Amino acid sequence: MAQPAQHPPIPEITTIGVIGAGQMGSGIAQVGSLAGYRVRLVDVNPEQLATAMGKIAVGLDRLVKKGQLTDADKDVAVGRISSHGSVADLSDCELVVEAATENEQIKKAIFKELLPHLRADAIIASNTSSISITRLAASTDRPERFIGMHFMNPVPAMKLIEVIRGIATEEDTYLAIRAVTEKLGKAPVTAEDFPAFIVNRILLPMINEAVYTLYEGVGNVDSIDTAMKLGANHPMGPLELADFIGLDTCLAVMQVLYEGLADSKYRPCPLLVKYVEAGWLGRKVKRGFYDYRGEHPVPTR
Ligand code: NAD
Repeated sequence: MAQPAQHPPIPEITTIGVIGAGQMGSGIAQVGSLAGYRVRLVDVNPEQLATAMGKIAVGLDRLVKKGQLTDADKDVAVGRISSHGSVADLSDCELVVEAATENEQIKKAIFKELLPHLRADAIIASNTSSISITRLAASTDRPERFIGMHFMNPVPAMKLIEVIRGIATEEDTYLAIRAVTEKLGKAPVTAEDFPAFIVNRILLPMINEAVYTLYEGVGNVDSIDTAMKLGANHPMGPLELADFIGLDTCLAVMQVLYEGLADSKYRPCPLLVKYVEAGWLGRKVKRGFYDYRGEHPVPTR
């Protein structure tokens, strides 16, 4: 009888590579270094790397001001993070967390470039909001060591990490990632590998419906957000939240739900498509359902 393949033991995780220095990658780097990991942050865009390092410094300063971190510990945490322009610099990482743009082709291309440099025993985790972990894993040489680690935005503030096993993810990989999650001070929830997992399967159709409500003229941006804050006790309105997530990411998740579950109830609202086509992607570019260029956000409809 064929013996199951033997894999090297899971190494002790001390150095984490983070690919993508956007909203999520910078937050993941920050919580990783605070938890004592050495972090290598990679982005193809040097400006994005510089912005991320600045954002991390501001985030840590805020903790110092709140009395949750000493100045000395802040300096240590900053010193544990290095920035890099290429995945070739991730050869000493025992864990790589991919947090690049929500696009399957981009993510697969990143893994292809990464694998020749990566330790044979390293784990790869994707922070994808919606793409099949099984399919991403199958594009690598180590589906048994591939897993979904779905952080929430903003990473330093949000407690949850969804942990998603692909069909081939082995138990030791899953247990190692649950342990990392806890060391990061986060609470893991296990989700099965179906489109958009748990949080976004529920949240994004609600946001998409809010955009339909706007599209059909049932309410304007202000009335929709106010209604959901005061009427459903949501801390943020759905359109404000969409801007916070990024409208490109929202659209990508709806497309994955629509195609992955083949159900017309998930069709992305044409108005969401239009905002993305306009490049009005939300807070990260200072314009989405609100215009953030002035002192206060102003609704765009
Ligand atoms: P973002 O647009 O802020 O950042 C993406 C970063 O990836 C950019 O800096 C871009 O330069 C970089 N990138 C693109 N191609 C790259 C490559 N080949 N190599 C290295 N870097 C590359 O996006 P984000 O909001 O940080 O989202 C990143 C991932 O996290 C996505 O998969 C998204 O679905 C997921 N996510 C997002 C949220 C959210 O609320 N925004 C929440 C959970 C998970």
